Amino acid sequence: MDTKSENIIFDTVAIIGIGLIGSSIARGIQKNKIARRVFGYAKTIATRKKAEELGYMDKIFDTSAGAVHNADLIILCVPVGSNADIMREIKEHLKMGAIITDVGSVKKAVIDQIDMYLPDGVSFIPGHPIAGTEFSGPESGFAELFNKKCCLLTPYTKTDKGQLNKLISFWEELGMFVDTMSPEMHDLVLATISHLPHLVAFNLVDTASKLENRENQEFTKYSAGGFLDYTRVASSDPIMWRDIFINNKKAVIEILDSFIDGLTDLKENIQTDNANKLESIFTETRKKRNKILDSIKKIESE
Ligand code: NAP
Repeated sequence: MDTKSENIIFDTVAIIGIGLIGSSIARGIQKNKIARRVFGYAKTIATRKKAEELGYMDKIFDTSAGAVHNADLIILCVPVGSNADIMREIKEHLKMGAIITDVGSVKKAVIDQIDMYLPDGVSFIPGHPIAGTEFSGPESGFAELFNKKCCLLTPYTKTDKGQLNKLISFWEELGMFVDTMSPEMHDLVLATISHLPHLVAFNLVDTASKLENRENQEFTKYSAGGFLDYTRVASSDPIMWRDIFINNKKAVIEILDSFIDGLTDLKENIQTDNANKLESIFTETRKKRNKILDSIKKIESE
């Protein structure tokens, strides 16, 4: 890789899992010249071959142990239920002083999976770049995915402070702004702003399709932007989302209970023709959503 030395933060980065996120990180490193070498590993030959053809990594290994052997930073970019398997494979092949981080959409369960296999002399910094699309695989990544988006890091007892600062600089070089918070708070925040909306989108597509079958009528061909925009995320990878819900059960159930209470209230207000109440709920939510849009515009213009 042709590298300008002034941006280099890590000599060798190993990316385990070369899908949307792993391949976007690899492309971002290449574009911004922030490591001398990027190594990769994915589970299937097909993905490894595709990543090789795309050419944004210096070497693709056919074992995870091979990929991490000389790495200073190892980024686990696999579905959140696969981290323990990976740690079992790599734990004896890690370099002293290496940093492991991950990109998983759940933090508490991932920390539990990784921590039990973490060797002495290796620091683990749990992370989550909050950037994505509904597409998967090595061909779907792009270097700009992270631009002006937030990366949440959830340091814990085995996170070294100096290493944390180095990882913060790494994500900043990829265009992100970085915040830190506790793993538990991360899981509740993400259950609210990401996991619940995905669950609702999956369920909405399923509900529409059951009604189509019952009525023998193709409802969804009449959908204008609304239904398709709203359910875009239901095209996301099923394995990734299976793992997220199972590994963030506590926070998802908490927010889901609150959501169901809200839906029940709305249903009652519709059933009882409570027009004033409905109007006031919708007026308030419109104000709140506009406020969210304003604060996002402010961040994007900074
Ligand atoms: P993806 O495109 O489906 O890629 C997943 C990658 O992991 C593939 O390369 C896959 O290899 C590999 N993999 C799966 N199981 C493995 C195992 N047991 N051992 C080794 N490699 C394995 O998924 P993604 O969207 O990049 O998501 C990866 C992680 O990023 C997830 O933890 C997710 O929570 C997190 N995340 C996703 C988004 C998003 O919007 N997509 C946003 C932020 C964070 P094969 O192709 O060979 O099976």
